[in-house]
Amino acid sequence: MSPATPLPPIVQVATVYAVALGSNRRGRHGSPECEIAAALEALGDIIARSPTIASVPLGPSNRRYANAVALIETAEDPATLLVRLKRIERAFGRRPGRRWGSRVIDLDIVLWSGGAWFSPGLIVPHAAFRTRGFVLGPLAGLVPKWRDPLTGRTIRQLAQSVDRKRPRD
Ligand code: ATP
Ligand code: CA
Ligand code: CA
Repeated sequence: MSPATPLPPIVQVATVYAVALGSNRRGRHGSPECEIAAALEALGDIIARSPTIASVPLGPSNRRYANAVALIETAEDPATLLVRLKRIERAFGRRPGRRWGSRVIDLDIVLWSGGAWFSPGLIVPHAAFRTRGFVLGPLAGLVPKWRDPLTGRTIRQLAQSVDRKRPRD
């Protein structure tokens, strides 16, 4: 009998994520812009990042937001990455509270190069990103040709349709 063929080592393939960062409250690192910079450090494995932009609040809080999007490369699956993002949020002093209330840091998984993911408490692509200019604008600067796996539309197309809907002042 021939000797058994050795099994190949289990290789965890690195994938790319777009992570949206938001802050509308000072924390121990300083202003919302400083909190975003510190969260990027904590995330690590950054391939690219957008500039940090200022945006108007969504929901009950009336504080100005700082927002950015980063591309990170990691072998973690989406559920594992979400656990890490929540750990960073807690370490930054985020406490469970009202959705869209004021927060030191908010980290959302927007897109994953592996496609779509649905598990309890996690939907990727992020369920609301297609209508959010403060995510699509920075994202379009990084990956304009990336296609939303659910609608097949590119990030550039999604960003343009949100721009068109924005009321002019
Ligand atoms: P929104 O999700 O509309 O941006 P939010 O970020 O303020 O609102 P959170 O209170 O931070 O909402 O999160 C609520 C829950 O959303 C989280 O506990 C998490 O389990 C879930 N969730 C589902 N999909 C995602 C995703 N793609 N990225 C991050 N969290 C997600
Ligand atoms: Ca969010
Ligand atoms: Ca969130």
